Amino acid sequence: MIIFKFNSVKVQINTNLARIQHLHLGKEQKVTINVLRLDLIHPIISGNKWYKLRFYLEEAINASFKEIATFGGAYSNHIVATACACNERNMRSVAFIRGEMTFPLTHTLQEAVSYGMQLCFLSRNDYKNKTDIIASNDLPYRYWIPEGGYGILGAQGAASILNTVPLQEYTHIIAAVGSGTMIAGLLNGSMAHQTVIGISSQKNNLSLESEILKLTFTENHRKLILMHDYHFGGFAKHPSELLHFMGDFWYNESIPTDLVYTSKLFFAVSDQLQKKYFNTGDKILVIHSGGLQGNKSLPEKSLPF
Ligand SMILES: *Cc1c(COP(=O)(O)O)cnc(C)c1O
Repeated sequence: MIIFKFNSVKVQINTNLARIQHLHLGKEQKVTINVLRLDLIHPIISGNKWYKLRFYLEEAINASFKEIATFGGAYSNHIVATACACNERNMRSVAFIRGEMTFPLTHTLQEAVSYGMQLCFLSRNDYKNKTDIIASNDLPYRYWIPEGGYGILGAQGAASILNTVPLQEYTHIIAAVGSGTMIAGLLNGSMAHQTVIGISSQKNNLSLESEILKLTFTENHRKLILMHDYHFGGFAKHPSELLHFMGDFWYNESIPTDLVYTSKLFFAVSDQLQKKYFNTGDKILVIHSGGLQGNKSLPEKSLPF
């Protein structure tokens, strides 16, 4: 186990920077596509992660915990977002990282450390059992947030994303899916006339639906549609076809996307439009959940933005 600690920079997050952008995509089919640009709220904690974390942090602060602990991989948006959100709320943070330490640290972990997060590296085997990790590292002042922010409070936070838009106008809400926490929250926050579509970033994750439904009010269960065919080979896989799409999407719509989640999300939207999945007059809200810091793992000049 290795622990890092440096002087940290101070973070401020302004969720008012998120805005709705109209796409050119869909005009031909007379389908309106609006994007909620959560990628704009902060260069690093961009997107859904701040929303997923907000009620965990609130609970921890209200119960006078002094430190947040969580889990994740070396490229995890959740890790860097936790570091950032804790810094903003003046909480200490510590993360248990999957796999041995590599040097240099990934950009994601360097970023997390710069916000004052301590890192503890665990072998892939030790990482598997979260209950054991908690048992051997628990402290009275330490509040644990599940991996990826998965849980009821995470979903509640994600539901609050929809408070920022004129919700009733939309027929569909579409978002990328990792742990399923965000889409569960969007389902809970959606209205009766809306269909909620999740684009899975993973290959063949068949337990995803049940994980999502565990966090969802039962009256919403039938409104969820999960699409599993847009993983491009698997989680975080990014063949050149995907990078080309990201470049084209940037030129056409001036929207940057990340290689793990939102590129696959917008590819799916564009593919389903071509396949006439949507009807004339539909109005679609696509959640740009951010995650752009993950693109730093690409060689320089791989993308035009
Ligand atoms: C984490 C993440 C998601 C997936 O959210 P879940 O709640 O884990 O399903 C989607 N997009 C981005 C950019 C993310 O970082």
